[in-house]
Amino acid sequence: MSTRAQLAGQRPAPAGGRGAGRERAQRATLGKHGGHPVTRGPRSAAERARDRRERRAEAYRWRSRLWEWSSLPRLRACGRRTFNGAGGPGLRLSETTDGLRAGLSGLQSCGSPWACPVCARRIAGRRATEVRTVVQAVADAGGSAALVTLTMRHRAGMPLVMLWAALSAAWSAVASGGRWKADRARFGVLGWCRTVEATHGEHGWHLHIHALVLFDGPVSFELAENLGMSMFARWERALTRKRLSAVADRGGLDVRMVRMSAESLDQVAEYVTKVAFEITSPSTKDGRYGNRAPFAVLRDALATGLADDCELWLEWEKASHDRRQLTWSQGLREWAKLGREQTDEEIVTEDEHGATVLYIAPESWPAVRDQVAELLDATETGGLLEACRWLTSRGIGYRLPKETPCRT
Ligand SMILES: [Zn+2]
Repeated sequence: MSTRAQLAGQRPAPAGGRGAGRERAQRATLGKHGGHPVTRGPRSAAERARDRRERRAEAYRWRSRLWEWSSLPRLRACGRRTFNGAGGPGLRLSETTDGLRAGLSGLQSCGSPWACPVCARRIAGRRATEVRTVVQAVADAGGSAALVTLTMRHRAGMPLVMLWAALSAAWSAVASGGRWKADRARFGVLGWCRTVEATHGEHGWHLHIHALVLFDGPVSFELAENLGMSMFARWERALTRKRLSAVADRGGLDVRMVRMSAESLDQVAEYVTKVAFEITSPSTKDGRYGNRAPFAVLRDALATGLADDCELWLEWEKASHDRRQLTWSQGLREWAKLGREQTDEEIVTEDEHGATVLYIAPESWPAVRDQVAELLDATETGGLLEACRWLTSRGIGYRLPKETPCRT
């Protein structure tokens, strides 16, 4: 069963007919968490820590490769360059329920939720917490939620930047203006948050909008589907104006109710915020229908150096640059008492938990920056003592802050 089916599972599968095959294909494309089922059993803290470290090491490895050939200057500097006058990068350590967590401060961060393997993980983590908070507030108020997915037709060779511009314009037509206002009143819509998912396959770039629509009371699937169809009518009209199209019974529209249970809310928050950067999604060889998420394109580009994949990645960087990944309807965050929305840059800059336990000598930084994941692993498994040993054994200079006694 796909992830989306697990999220809701209230809609019977189509019995057949014209759109059935396409719909199944679309479900498979979206249910790309197959390798990491969200319903896996409880794992120990040690297992969770190991998984996290593996993913972190991979993200750092990919970013360090992008330092050399990314088209984005900020990404080429992310985690590579130190801030002037910071006295060298700081190694930070904090205690969590899953054990020690290490991190670095005093380094430049790009804050790209689309193209930076390291920043994308941090930003998605924060955004998932916010989505979870809002949906929980809706559940507490007796409301309900539906996940509405809108897609468009596309052909191989269509420029991603053009498709994305059309998608943004079509979403504006869906969720603003008089007709949307009428829909809100008719269906009791509190608001929405939406994200964009992109994949690339044999028919080129494929963009979806995933909109989590929140209602002020219980809503039946039929009612949510009626709202979905009203949204889709505006979506289709706006795409036609851009000489594009979408067909509802061929996977252009999908509506699912979200179960308001704690587990389901965790899943939907994770789903809405992580579809865009599924680092672990399969490559072409084992991917369903050959559709790859952008980070899977990057993985293949790094593994094979194929010019086509490198060009696709650079097209992705250019088209996604400066676009917002998660957008909220006006007033929804305030309603849920979420407070001011932080920018992606603020999130990655503030993601520095714990206390600085040592400073790496600025002149030694170039020797450390390619092995950062190793240093963080050593620090998390053996604390400050192990961090000091790790650095000393490699001849890397460091100093301890005055208030921290050296335990070496
Ligand atoms: Zn970054």
